[in-house]
Amino acid sequence: MIKRKGIVASGGVGIGKAYLIREDDLYVPKKNIAHADISREIYRLEEALIKTRGQISGIQEKISKEIGFDHGRIFEAHFLVLEDRMLIEDVIKQIKNKKVNVEYAFSQSIRKYIDTLLKLNDEYLRERVIDIKDVARRVMQSMLKEKSPEFINLKEKRIIVAHDLTPSQTAAIPKEKVLGFAVDVGGRTSHTAIIARSLGIPAVVGLKDITKIVKEQNQLIVDGFSGIVVVKPTKKRLDEYEKKIAIYSKEIEAAKKPKIGKAVTKDGKAVEISANIELPEEVGLVKKYGADGIGLYRTEYVFLGKKEMPSEEEQYKAYSRIVKKVNPDPVIIRTIDVGGDKILSQPGLTQEAGSFLGWRAIRFCLARPDIFKTQLRAILRASAEGKVKIMFPMISGVEELRQAKKLVTASKKELAKEGKKFDSDIEIGAMIEVPSAALTADFLAKECNFFSIGTNDLIQYSLAVDRTNEKVAYLYEPGHPAVLKLIKSIIDSGHKNNIWVGMCGEMSAEPVLAFLLVGLGIDELSMPPPQVLKIKELIQKITFEEAKKAAQKALSFSVARDVEKYLRGVLRKALDKDFFDFLRV
Ligand code: PEP
Ligand code: MG
Repeated sequence: MIKRKGIVASGGVGIGKAYLIREDDLYVPKKNIAHADISREIYRLEEALIKTRGQISGIQEKISKEIGFDHGRIFEAHFLVLEDRMLIEDVIKQIKNKKVNVEYAFSQSIRKYIDTLLKLNDEYLRERVIDIKDVARRVMQSMLKEKSPEFINLKEKRIIVAHDLTPSQTAAIPKEKVLGFAVDVGGRTSHTAIIARSLGIPAVVGLKDITKIVKEQNQLIVDGFSGIVVVKPTKKRLDEYEKKIAIYSKEIEAAKKPKIGKAVTKDGKAVEISANIELPEEVGLVKKYGADGIGLYRTEYVFLGKKEMPSEEEQYKAYSRIVKKVNPDPVIIRTIDVGGDKILSQPGLTQEAGSFLGWRAIRFCLARPDIFKTQLRAILRASAEGKVKIMFPMISGVEELRQAKKLVTASKKELAKEGKKFDSDIEIGAMIEVPSAALTADFLAKECNFFSIGTNDLIQYSLAVDRTNEKVAYLYEPGHPAVLKLIKSIIDSGHKNNIWVGMCGEMSAEPVLAFLLVGLGIDELSMPPPQVLKIKELIQKITFEEAKKAAQKALSFSVARDVEKYLRGVLRKALDKDFFDFLRV
């Protein structure tokens, strides 16, 4: 038995066999082929090898030209692999004997090849493994044409173990087959964590080396409450966890009270509790968990992992399906927020992976009005089918908001000319997730209808802590006084200008912090659907007066830990013990 501690990403406990996605894997499908297809698969291998050789020669030439002398040795290992008869024959043998597709055969042979090299007592060859992985990836990419996440082909329920999962990979995994996630990298607000939370799948991220420890099919426990992953658990440990699962399932059932009603405090302050969704398949969860609508629909998932940009018609259909399902409750559609850890795969868009300060969100949209207007037109048309609001991500100042609004007006004019229906009074909101927007919220509030505070980004930008980096995750503190001060001033600025202020960052689902936010006067909290009931019930059990008092006091502490400790103490006194324990704060 091996135990590893990571970062809690999504509550619950999952027990099952591992499905391992190694960092160097390209999600290779295993397909059985007919005898007649053998020569075609061998031809595809030759073709991929020739193409890769051409690519590498090209790079070699470029480097030699730019640097001015022969750097050929760098590619020695690359050519070594491409010309290695033993490797090539092993792949062909597998295709012929096992009747499997070339991608699968190649991935198996290359794995054997690398394992053999790693065992050799030769420093030079061992160091070349990284080059071999690189060339293997190129060959594989050429055979697969592109990374194809849909190849994650789960036949039975498994725990996904991965170094990292891109949002498009996560989106493509058949969720009903996933018992849990255990991931090497990432923090609480990286997108794998967000999706896992939305779907109510237990997840632990930031485990550093879990992919190196776990072998395919190993029995695993993913404890999303404590952030612990147990590999090959003992019988005793398994029994312990089976019990935990039974208790947890009972709690979930008990919490699914069909008519939870509105979140109104005992002294009459109402707070909208809405849901965040990423994928169309999550829309069913919005009503199931009793949310008052959708406070954040992350539309970028309509764009991710596709070869081409989705058309206006395609987007219109996707949005209106969601709007109709949630009607008469509102849906806040956020315009495409790509960049950071959500990178588009369409050709011609050179986005910087991992850069949260770069060409992303509204910046990308304003630079590509063709893409942006197509989306705006689709959203506007969907607004004829129910209650829709538009929200712009990553606004950093008034000018950006004005430019984005101009494009909405232009899109409205076009649609009106074409005789297409839309809500001409559609509300427009700005996400406040950049410190400059937070500090100029009083200006922004005069030019939009609402704010939604995006704490996932606001925290990373104001504390200078990459939200996806597990090494600095300990610094990612929603209760940090700097964050609280910014939030208070955003809410106050909104209210002074008579607009409502919500929050769609993950912070809104943390019970102690939700209590604080109510006290600061927040009007809406939007969160992963499975958290809605808990937060609604919490608000029904407190008074606005006590929340206000607690918030005021909380703002006087100088460190996050004291803020949370204090709020926990207040809630412990205010709530009955069973409910307090259920909150797991
Ligand atoms: C946020 O930044 O808080 C937010 C809700 O947006 P995302 O997590 O998609 O960046
Ligand atoms: Mg954000």
